[in-house]
Amino acid sequence: MSHLRLLSTDFDGTLIEHFSHGRCTADFADVLRHHKKHGGVWAVNTGRGLVHAIEGVEKFQAPVQPDFLLTNEREIFHRSSDGRWMPEKGWNQTCYERHDELFENSQALFDWLRSHADLRPGISIAEEDGRICGVITSTESEMAEFVDLLEKKIALLPDFSYQRNTIYLRFAHRDYHKGSALGELCRVLGIRHDEVLAAGDHFNDLPMLDGRFAAYPCCPSNAIPEVRETVLAAGGHVASLPAANGVAESWRFFHTEHNK
Ligand SMILES: [Mg+2]
Repeated sequence: MSHLRLLSTDFDGTLIEHFSHGRCTADFADVLRHHKKHGGVWAVNTGRGLVHAIEGVEKFQAPVQPDFLLTNEREIFHRSSDGRWMPEKGWNQTCYERHDELFENSQALFDWLRSHADLRPGISIAEEDGRICGVITSTESEMAEFVDLLEKKIALLPDFSYQRNTIYLRFAHRDYHKGSALGELCRVLGIRHDEVLAAGDHFNDLPMLDGRFAAYPCCPSNAIPEVRETVLAAGGHVASLPAANGVAESWRFFHTEHNK
């Protein structure tokens, strides 16, 4: 039995490189086979929604399927024995209700956002089910500028937060992020924090890489500087290889360290 019982891996940028063929590498496939053979659990913890997460995972063609998909940085789905993705009802329902309430109480902020986006062609408002859910910018530097402004606007809204990933930003309740979703998964499965490896590359991965929810945080070589710093500060591992090969490298590093 490995001391790592749960792998929580981001998908885009962490398992697949942007603009790549999107398939699993031989090295990461070996890690997955070993992990599953020893009873390990694999969760893909992504900013993608369920439909796109399933699409990505199917194209990835790993030798084993993930046991869980954590989607939109907050919802939890488990794979049933017949391969269907089933919601963790209690968690997801509470998550939807708390976001309904949050967004209901954030109309003034959304009014400001609409007028702000009207004046700036590089900022588009993203909607889901007819409701504002986030922002997409043309470039990452526009996103950085927007985030600076947003931080000031939400300073007095204690529950209002966001998850940021390249040119995409999703509004969120402050209690919901990749870290808290991972924490809930561990609670349900009875897995301890010191049995969890978490791997990510971008801002939206920070909540699962700061050591609170996974004792073994890591990132591939292509991770942004903020992720590398967070991983190192939490005593984790920064790989020398990019994407899935980097995650495999970190997994081997933690194994070797543990068995010394
Ligand atoms: Mg990513």
